[in-house]
Amino acid sequence: MAIDTLKLKNVSAEDQKMIRDIEVMIGPEPTTMGFAKNLFWGRFRNDLVAPYPMVDKTESEKCDALVAELEEYLKNEHPSIEIDRDEEIPEWAIRRLFDMGVMGMTVPVEYGGLGLGISSYNRVLEKIGSYCGSTSVMVSAHQSIGCKAIMLFGSEEQKKRFLPGVAREYLSAFCLSEPQVGSDAAGQETRCKLSEDGSHYILNGEKKWSTSGALSGMYTVMAKQMVVDPKTGKEKEKVTALICTPDMPGIEIFESNRSKAGIRGTWQARLRFTDVKIPLENLLHKEGRGLHVALTCLNFGRCTLSAGITGAAKRAADQATKWVQTRYQFQRPLADFELVQQRIARMYSNIYAMDAVLYMMTGMLDRGDEDIMVETAMTKVFCSQIGWEVIDDALEIMGGEGYMTENELERLWRDNRIHRIVEGSNEVMQPFIFGYGGKQLAEQMISIREALSWDTDESFGSNVSRMLGNAFRPTVMKRAIPLAMELFMGYRPSAPRVKVNHPSLAPHAKRIEKLVQGQAHWFKMASKWYREEIVVRQVVQARLGDTASFLFAMSTMLTRMDRTLTDGSIGAAEDRAYFEHAFDLLEHRINVLFTELKDNPDKSMAAAAKAGRDRSDSLPNNDFYIHESSPSAAGTGKTVRTDLVKQFPAMKQGFIKDAIAQTPGKAQNTVATGATVAGDGAPNVTSADDLSLSTPDVDPAS
Ligand SMILES: Cc1cc2nc3c(=O)[nH]c(=O)nc-3n(C[C@H](O)[C@H](O)[C@H](O)COP(=O)(O)OP(=O)(O)OC[C@H]3O[C@@H](n4cnc5c(N)ncnc54)[C@H](O)[C@@H]3O)c2cc1C
Repeated sequence: MAIDTLKLKNVSAEDQKMIRDIEVMIGPEPTTMGFAKNLFWGRFRNDLVAPYPMVDKTESEKCDALVAELEEYLKNEHPSIEIDRDEEIPEWAIRRLFDMGVMGMTVPVEYGGLGLGISSYNRVLEKIGSYCGSTSVMVSAHQSIGCKAIMLFGSEEQKKRFLPGVAREYLSAFCLSEPQVGSDAAGQETRCKLSEDGSHYILNGEKKWSTSGALSGMYTVMAKQMVVDPKTGKEKEKVTALICTPDMPGIEIFESNRSKAGIRGTWQARLRFTDVKIPLENLLHKEGRGLHVALTCLNFGRCTLSAGITGAAKRAADQATKWVQTRYQFQRPLADFELVQQRIARMYSNIYAMDAVLYMMTGMLDRGDEDIMVETAMTKVFCSQIGWEVIDDALEIMGGEGYMTENELERLWRDNRIHRIVEGSNEVMQPFIFGYGGKQLAEQMISIREALSWDTDESFGSNVSRMLGNAFRPTVMKRAIPLAMELFMGYRPSAPRVKVNHPSLAPHAKRIEKLVQGQAHWFKMASKWYREEIVVRQVVQARLGDTASFLFAMSTMLTRMDRTLTDGSIGAAEDRAYFEHAFDLLEHRINVLFTELKDNPDKSMAAAAKAGRDRSDSLPNNDFYIHESSPSAAGTGKTVRTDLVKQFPAMKQGFIKDAIAQTPGKAQNTVATGATVAGDGAPNVTSADDLSLSTPDVDPAS
């Protein structure tokens, strides 16, 4: 039974619509249930997390060589400081990454890439992230989301047409967000339709924040389309994914970038599509399956984002620890103080946990596991939050010097704040982990309740006959009796069995068993306490979403340490100390969150939030920035002073010219050159020939 068919009596129409949209967006449940969903049922699927996944030797060696070459470049030539200062990744640096094969490392060899797997790709992203956040985000936006859909869903013809280019020549961009489409990915206003003669699609609308959009040779664009629902035969609005190229007439890049706190070298474009003709052969996957395409790509983006911040966290911890070991105050190194040691311990232990989660996740993706959407969300939330805590700890113990630009830590700090916001903000992902992770269990509980409880909307007769009928059905009662015992008599079903090979880890396995049992128990208890209201109690959802994420992290740490201790194929001896502390830290966090389910400050929160909102209503709009497309207040806010902030002309003309020259559309001469790079005081560019090659800031050859 799907949630949207249930009677959610106390849930507002908007919330019911939101739930329906999410269900449609995610599509049908996978046939198998992944590791995370099993945690909600109180089950531990040993086979899905053990043994800890490893990359095969041949690929590992290939990746080692690439990482070594890349590190040499990053350490000695890559202009990380200048990228941040100048708010631009120079073209020569992007070219170097193309030449090394980094930009196409996951593109299959037959299409010109290196053909490496997801774990290797993330190792590379981690390395880049330890040197330059802007560059890791640029690479990730290109390869995890910009052109990923072609690798995953493209036809053979599309692969041949685009993959050699994205692997070796030009950047690609992912165009999902719009002024009105931020967290609510299903609310697309960009529209496409088939032309009357059915020979092409016509695309109209606007996209916002498309990373590298002003520098790319191809875009994956999501747009709403009326499509016939095969089930009902009726037309329904759904999202379709299309491939666009910058040479298509009607595409205007009217903002190439905006200044921002971190990852300042990345460029986010705004694109306008006006009656753009898209050839039919540029349809990605199937009409109406665009959100599935987008969400599948985001699974990969959520990993590379995590890899980037893991690399940054490692660098921050090493930098800060070196500092406190050598900086003296009160006649001793700062590292002698216990509060500083607490942070050293926490940083490295948290990094151990991030590493374990990340490479478990990439291993699952390499393996082709089917049901991984909850796990990728957990990886994203965990790494972006814990990684942020590590970098913040590092900044704190470096004191005032940590805040100074030339020591580079503050750049890591600024660069890595964004990860909690993008690719599904953590506040959207936490309820998603709870809701999608526990959905099947919740559905079973609700169906039992509906089968056996009084419904005030039904007549006396039909209530009695339904309840009596169900009370004698063994399938219903087999589930209902243990559930009732758990909910009303405090009985708990037995804990799952967590298997380990190394005897010294047996106590840790037992601790996880108890916590998994708790996850299922508290999920059911919270569902009982809040009933339908749980759908809107995000604070409760986030607690149980986080406990599940922390349990996932502990499970990956356990099987990783098991492998370290049994065959030594991964990790090192000193990891044991980090593992032990990370295990304690996460177990403690889980227990605090379980306790908070009953003992929390939520009651006073609602009143305080209301008071804050009332205060906001009393303040004049024109003193504050208001979202440009707010349905209630657009145009009433404070004027945005763009003249005081750096604006971005089309500085990367050379790159765009190359991109346009390389695009398959141009090569095949199917459409005339039409990209218009404008706004921000930049000259309008209406033809690739109008663009002159810009001089690179640094010539690597000189
Ligand atoms: C540097 C950068 C690069 C980007 N690159 C791309 C790209 O390449 N392609 C692309 O398509 N998009 C891109 N984006 C857009 C990005 O994905 C969005 O910023 C993100 O989805 C959040 O949308 P929003 O900023 O409009 O926030 P909003 O949707 O306005 O949300 C603001 C905040 O409200 C809270 N919130 C929102 N919804 C809920 C909810 N349901 N429950 C609880 N809390 C909620 C969260 O705290 C959230 O952070 C990029 C953005 C940035 C800043």
